[in-house]
Amino acid sequence: MPNPKRAPLYITMHDSDNVAIVANPGGLPPGTVFPSGLTLRDHVPQGHKVALANLAEGDAVRRYNVPIGYAVKDIPAGSWVHERLLKMPQARSLDNLPVATAKPEPMPPLQDFTFEGFRNADGSVGTRNILAITQTVQCVAGVTDFAVQRIKADLLPKYPNVDDVVALEHGYGCGVAIDAPDAVVPIRTLRNISLNPNFGGEVMLVSLGCEKLQPDRLMPPGTIPLVDERDAAGDGGDSKLDVVCLQDEAHVGFMSMVESIVRQAEVHLKRLDARRRETVPASELVVGVQCGGSDAFSGVTANPAVGFCTDLLVRAGASVMFSETTEVRDGIAQLTARATTPEVAQALIREMAWYDAYLQRGSVDRSANTTPGNKMGGLSNIVEKAMGSIVKSGSAPISGVLAPGEKLRQKGLTYAATPASDFICGTLQLAAGMNLHVFTTGRGTPYGLAEVPVIKVATRSDLARRWHDLMDVNAGTIADGTATVEEVGWELFRLMLDVASGRKKTWAEQWKLHNALVLFNPAPVT
Ligand code: CA
Repeated sequence: MPNPKRAPLYITMHDSDNVAIVANPGGLPPGTVFPSGLTLRDHVPQGHKVALANLAEGDAVRRYNVPIGYAVKDIPAGSWVHERLLKMPQARSLDNLPVATAKPEPMPPLQDFTFEGFRNADGSVGTRNILAITQTVQCVAGVTDFAVQRIKADLLPKYPNVDDVVALEHGYGCGVAIDAPDAVVPIRTLRNISLNPNFGGEVMLVSLGCEKLQPDRLMPPGTIPLVDERDAAGDGGDSKLDVVCLQDEAHVGFMSMVESIVRQAEVHLKRLDARRRETVPASELVVGVQCGGSDAFSGVTANPAVGFCTDLLVRAGASVMFSETTEVRDGIAQLTARATTPEVAQALIREMAWYDAYLQRGSVDRSANTTPGNKMGGLSNIVEKAMGSIVKSGSAPISGVLAPGEKLRQKGLTYAATPASDFICGTLQLAAGMNLHVFTTGRGTPYGLAEVPVIKVATRSDLARRWHDLMDVNAGTIADGTATVEEVGWELFRLMLDVASGRKKTWAEQWKLHNALVLFNPAPVT
């Protein structure tokens, strides 16, 4: 039944849009009258679209000032515009894109913001002080995990300045076509993760012995500051990788392997424990932004707030990465226009073309991205999802592009090409060197990583209320009309400095919610 007392809350993203998003919890019933005089013909669920004007068959349905689809039949004003009423636009061709044409006003620098971090020998800064144990192959995962449990129980209490011990478990290393050209992606990903700033430059490996990914292939000479005088075995001070090899003949029995790992770990723990946080500028933040479990509010509340915060970070001289290729593909023209140089635009096009071909090999296209939950949440298709996803990147010029698994070496806003899969994207951003992760969600996900703090931002107040001990920031206040995008963006920025400093823990840290590392392997397995 229509409820005349219920004031309709709805959001349009641009003056030329012909649909709006209903924001009321539970949606709005037919008969609801908007202040404009528009009367709803259908029940419109929360987060779903309502036609603001009469649409004829074939008309463009506009949101974010772009066509997110074309009406498959006449849609009268006041109708619920759901996915079955829309035909998806073709993907933008990668030819004749605007290149470095947008010249945004330079943003005033933000100074005087700092956090307390762990300065590393290579100049990078950690937000946590973690011992990471790299594995060359999945075969050693059980033994390493056993040893890690023992390290946590017996050693960690002796080294109170070390936050955690983490085994870098993954599914790669053997049974793969390791000489395939695309094998470079998982290998450099694992290498660069081992060098993440949160691990203090301490690298130790557990190897099986017979695997394809041999330790010196994973970490060729010169990749890491070598152990030399740090070598615990003291065997003449030769520079070498710290590797525990389970098939080594010196090992007799399972406990001998475990003891080797524990003994080597203590060498690294001692050095990590001697480190102290120091005041560093906010420019040392390396933030990866991502979304998952998206709904129609993602692009209205949480992602714009993250985008505002991205601009604050760039103004503070920090590094920010945005990713998720299938979710930016439909906005490629916006991105190439925002590139600082033609070379950056070409690198964006290169990554899109590579991913188009990758998807084509699997007989799908970018439309394989959307989930049933996205659609229930009001996102009709990948075009609509993409427009809401890209706003996480704010408005700063795009000054760099990374291929999957590459390490970030510059400040400012970078496009780090990754799949949109939450775990693979997070894993690749870790490899790029992120020391803080921001994750927005509308449907809700308890996502977290052991390697870096993950700050989760809810798109709706209802989710923030139900998941009060999983969501760190509620951007739903923007849809409720009780906060602005700018206010939530600043709240997030300040929380980042607190979390980076270790003054605050995220909920995922509090509960130790740790998702798996998932290496992106576009090469064949054998
Ligand atoms: Ca994602």
